[in-house]
Amino acid sequence: MTESTRTEANKTVKYPSIHLQAGRQKRVVNGHPWVYSNEVQMDAAAKALPAGSPVRLLEPSGKPVGIFTFNPHTLVAARLLSTDPAAVIDGAFLERRLRAATELRDRLFGRPFYRLVHAEADGLPGLILDRFGDVVTVQANSAFIDQRMDLLLEALDRVLAPRAVILRNDSNQRGLEGLAEENRLAKGELDGPIRLEENGSVFFADPLGGQKTGWFYDQRDNRAFIAGLAKGARVIDFYSYNGGFAVQCALAGAESVVAVDRSQAALDNAARAAEANGVAARFEARRADAFEEMERLGAAEERFGVVIADPPAFVKSKKDLAAGSRAYRKMTRLAARITAPGGYLLCASCSHNVDPPAFAEQVARGLTDAGRTGRILRSAGAAPDHPVHPHLPESAYLKAIVMQLD
Ligand code: SAH
Repeated sequence: MTESTRTEANKTVKYPSIHLQAGRQKRVVNGHPWVYSNEVQMDAAAKALPAGSPVRLLEPSGKPVGIFTFNPHTLVAARLLSTDPAAVIDGAFLERRLRAATELRDRLFGRPFYRLVHAEADGLPGLILDRFGDVVTVQANSAFIDQRMDLLLEALDRVLAPRAVILRNDSNQRGLEGLAEENRLAKGELDGPIRLEENGSVFFADPLGGQKTGWFYDQRDNRAFIAGLAKGARVIDFYSYNGGFAVQCALAGAESVVAVDRSQAALDNAARAAEANGVAARFEARRADAFEEMERLGAAEERFGVVIADPPAFVKSKKDLAAGSRAYRKMTRLAARITAPGGYLLCASCSHNVDPPAFAEQVARGLTDAGRTGRILRSAGAAPDHPVHPHLPESAYLKAIVMQLD
């Protein structure tokens, strides 16, 4: 069944047509979901379209490619919504995409705690949803989604009927789309941090006040892997945030776990999770700057069986590439120095501007700077609730390298 035959009330909708320029159609016809502004015929009518308008994209020959969302003001001018040229982009469309995304996650995890929608890979460009049981957080990073927020909230009600919905609309991307910052409760009420589960542990997050959407589900599998190495070890988790790595290591039988972060609010959530999982006696929250604490511990000749360093993005834009790359190298050097011989070190990067080989190179250099050798046990990305569009491999932003050091 095509998308157009399943719309509300048998509407026929005629979207404005946008033509690809001659010779510029190949990438899109081959399945890439983005069209750059210099690839379309940007005539006066196209330029006048409001950002976020659905359009019918046509090959130079007039053959339809599909329905795209259009923004004449951004470098990526058109983003694929449906390969069905008769698709109607209404509440039913959003609902179908939400249902498909939910079914996938439920099959993957069985518990209702996950990234629910991951933008293009789930057929909803610019939309990020995270689910915490009956609470959902929304990041609307495109004009297309921003304008349809009411339709989206209604569709979300039909699919999940969440108790509360939180808009975390403070991403850099919104600025590029000309959208204002806006963090607010769009539905329901929240009384304090919300509870979530991951890999059998319980955690707390504050999606209105915390970083991004309150929890980083992307590290789920990497947390499980490192926890599997933590039994009997002294563990230190730098940039611990709400304690995802630290508490899972404690629950897996670590001798002791230190969570280091400069945010007291994050450490409070981590301590609360340690309490809820019955590991508070082996858990310490330490408020400090990560590099300073690594230097201090190194100078004091402290050693840990497991060291975790999963920082915020050091390379937020291309201009930070050199400085940020040096920071990953330094982080690895300082963290390697306090990793016990035979111990395990996890270094991670969520900077999408640094590709996996470039990150691996900085990690290798940092290891050598520290005078250490070892072996990579795992090079991984984000968990499968962060799927990747096959034609946008660069959107796989997360890199985690786990090594055993000699
Ligand atoms: N590792 C975390 C995610 C890290 S988010 C997880 O598994 O969920 C980044 C965290 O780094 C935030 O909690 C932030 O407060 C902290 N942070 C940022 N700069 C820091 C610094 N210089 N020293 C210590 N913590 C820092």
